Amino acid sequence: MTTPQPLPLVDLKSLLPEELRALVRQLGQEEYRAGQLLSWIHGKGVEQVDQMSDLSRAFREQLKGVAWVSRLREVQRQVSPGDQAVKFLFELPTGERVESVLIIDGKRRTACLSSQVGCPLDCQFCATGRMGFLRNLSAAQITDQLLQLSRTLLAERGERMTNVVMMGMGEPLLNYEELVRALRLMRLEHGPAIGGRKVTVSTAGYVPGILRLAREDLNLGLAISLNATTDELRDEIMPINRKYPIAELLAAAAEYFSLRGRRVTFEYVLMAGVTDSDEDALRLADLTRGVPCKINLIPYNELGEGTPFRRPLSERVARFRQTLEAHTPMAVTLRESRGRDIAAACGQLYQAQERRRRSARAAG
Ligand code: SF4
Repeated sequence: MTTPQPLPLVDLKSLLPEELRALVRQLGQEEYRAGQLLSWIHGKGVEQVDQMSDLSRAFREQLKGVAWVSRLREVQRQVSPGDQAVKFLFELPTGERVESVLIIDGKRRTACLSSQVGCPLDCQFCATGRMGFLRNLSAAQITDQLLQLSRTLLAERGERMTNVVMMGMGEPLLNYEELVRALRLMRLEHGPAIGGRKVTVSTAGYVPGILRLAREDLNLGLAISLNATTDELRDEIMPINRKYPIAELLAAAAEYFSLRGRRVTFEYVLMAGVTDSDEDALRLADLTRGVPCKINLIPYNELGEGTPFRRPLSERVARFRQTLEAHTPMAVTLRESRGRDIAAACGQLYQAQERRRRSARAAG
């Protein structure tokens, strides 16, 4: 007779409602138990099965034998002096760290979430790119960032999260399955219930991911980090362009619009002497003419420490914007990086922490 092998523990935080229902049925329980689990985990933020007080003791014991609920450990929090951004650093059970930012802007409360630890795409102006790629986050780990930020917002300001942007560490479309699962979990009515128009996925231009996302029923906002108007420059500062050049990227953006009916946002980072000339503004207007879109200009958030890129003077930023607006029918906005004073470009808080850890180790 063979000894039955123990089942691997499943993380309940990553399960969609239909999967939870299947699990409770497998355990001989009624399906409504799945709803109770969802509201404990995504609504009340409870991770200990023993604290789920409306489940019978026998069911809790059964659950503990097959499942657990993960949680990221908050290791640092930084509030910007103007109170407009709160940056969180979370630690994974494996010891790596990721960042998330809560952005307060008018009536909007936006959670900016990470999808990977580090990033394989190596954009030359990005702090995360310099870390290299360490690992993909699980759907539970992506969702947990939102759950923890939402709880903090409710506890400290009595407010609810309104929006999610996938613009933290990593290229979300390279972690596609976990990303989409997390986006489905975030919109559950038991939790923060944020979905569709309130969620934006930002990509550096991974074309197969854009085309796939266009075919999901999620109806998300899509932001494309364009940042250059010639393939020559984009190849250099965003190496993904060598595989998916600007023309292919624009065609994918147009397809996203035609399938989803949503204008794409082109993000364009202004770097002094690199991307901020009048010629760039004119080319940007030309390139985006055929794609219903918004164009978001972002003056570069300087990283310091040996980076060759600089933030343009505000007169140059204004001139770029005027030139662009004069030549495009698309809406143009200028976004100041709200967390500039707390190192809010992706990967910067992580790097500051790592430097401190390294110097502490060296001093010790
Ligand atoms: S900008 Fe985004 S895609 Fe590029 S390296 Fe940084 S995290 Fe990765």
